[in-house]
Amino acid sequence: MRFDTIIVGGGLSGLSAALHLSRSGQRVALIERKRFLGGRAATYDDHTFGLPVDNGQHLMMGCYEATIEYLRLTGALEKVSLQPTQDVMFVTGKGKKHRLYCPPLPAPLHLLAGYGGFSLLTIREKIALGRMLLSLVRSPSTQQNRLRHMTIAEWFAELEQPLSLVEKFWDPLVASIMNAAPHQLSAVVFYRTLRTIFLGHRQNSSLMFFKTDHQRTFVEPATKYLEHKGSFILNGKGLTSMKERSGSVKALILDDGSEISGENYIIALPEHEIRRVAGAEQLVSTWSEARWDSSPIITVNLWFEEPISPLPIIGFVGAPVHWIFTRGEVQLPEGNTAHYVTAVLSAADTLIDATEQQLTNLVLREIVARLGIKNPRPLRVKVMKEKRATYILSPEVEACRPGPITSVSNLFLAGDWTATGFPATIEGAILSGRSAARAILHRLP
Ligand SMILES: Cc1cc2nc3c(=O)[nH]c(=O)nc-3n(C[C@H](O)[C@H](O)[C@H](O)COP(=O)(O)OP(=O)(O)OC[C@H]3O[C@@H](n4cnc5c(N)ncnc54)[C@H](O)[C@@H]3O)c2cc1C
Repeated sequence: MRFDTIIVGGGLSGLSAALHLSRSGQRVALIERKRFLGGRAATYDDHTFGLPVDNGQHLMMGCYEATIEYLRLTGALEKVSLQPTQDVMFVTGKGKKHRLYCPPLPAPLHLLAGYGGFSLLTIREKIALGRMLLSLVRSPSTQQNRLRHMTIAEWFAELEQPLSLVEKFWDPLVASIMNAAPHQLSAVVFYRTLRTIFLGHRQNSSLMFFKTDHQRTFVEPATKYLEHKGSFILNGKGLTSMKERSGSVKALILDDGSEISGENYIIALPEHEIRRVAGAEQLVSTWSEARWDSSPIITVNLWFEEPISPLPIIGFVGAPVHWIFTRGEVQLPEGNTAHYVTAVLSAADTLIDATEQQLTNLVLREIVARLGIKNPRPLRVKVMKEKRATYILSPEVEACRPGPITSVSNLFLAGDWTATGFPATIEGAILSGRSAARAILHRLP
């Protein structure tokens, strides 16, 4: 069977590429090595545990334009909820609450009012934050050229951000968006992200929450759409090598020895997986100068008898636990209901080897100290560790990120690590899949 386009990798970038090509009438085959789709935004339906659990808690924002388009296209927009305006509660180690609420005014007045009234920050820190925000509006092309060579930490130093502001505000924000520390990361990626969040529409800075798991939000609706459009999904088959001749790919060889061929190919795999594919050496050499290190994220899933907070999200200031999400009531296999809570520890390299018990105790200690809950005893716990959650986008890596078009005429790339201009996120992955699909569609006669 011959296809118009073969996509390798059933994460969000591959699914997004498949959706856009199928929408345009292409006959697509999507190849995924695992038995399930979703990649790093997948759901594990572990029968021994009895509850579906995501590989990690994810958070989205109103500025996720390509993601919203994906959800609308697959009829899954109702599976997420978007705040009318940015509204987040932060709690310090002593249990003091500080609400960041941006009133529903036209942008950027909502930010001035919201951050102006944010009691976590002192006047001096707010002035420094204002300096940072002002720098976002100044001559974007000159700024981007300069910031390309700098780390976020160097940019903070240049704009004289006080250490107290960096520790309580910037460090957790950078970890949440780019999953590493400011001294490791490219300033230009963070600059573009801040511009998108803060300078766009008011709801760009609103938080977007999942009402259900990744499988029901991203995978099932997309699978139905693709099957309805006549596309094929091949689960449990991995790419091992590419057959290339005269500057174009002729076929892909899969790990069961089978061969599959099409007019065009999209490789939507993480960078380190492409390195393992025989025949991809030439491709890899274009970005292999940089060090593609990755950084972990840990999610501690807890099910309590009683609710721990009415708020959907709480930021813990100055803690290794960055966010607590309350996910509502769920039915346990035993028949009783429980209140589902997740705790997120981003850029968690120092904690990745801790045991499940140590991580649970750490989270429970923070819940006691900050939320004043006495003796919280979870009914169930599940710790999810993702060692390679995202690549660390250093200035060197950012300079090497390849776009969707390669030197091989019918081979295209997608993935959160490619040159989307944004961090390695859901939005970056979905955007990259759309860009690869568009690159193919633009070449069609
Ligand atoms: C724990 C965690 C928390 C996160 N939190 C957030 C968040 O809050 N907000 C946010 O926006 N982003 C978040 N992210 C990032 C987001 O999940 C990723 O950026 C996105 O899912 C990456 O999608 P992708 O398609 O680029 O790659 P992947 O999801 O890695 O997809 C690649 C796919 O290719 C498959 N594959 C690999 N090798 C082969 C092969 N040889 N043949 C066939 N298939 C193969 C893999 O099995 C995988 O399914 C988080 C990530 C993690 C891990």
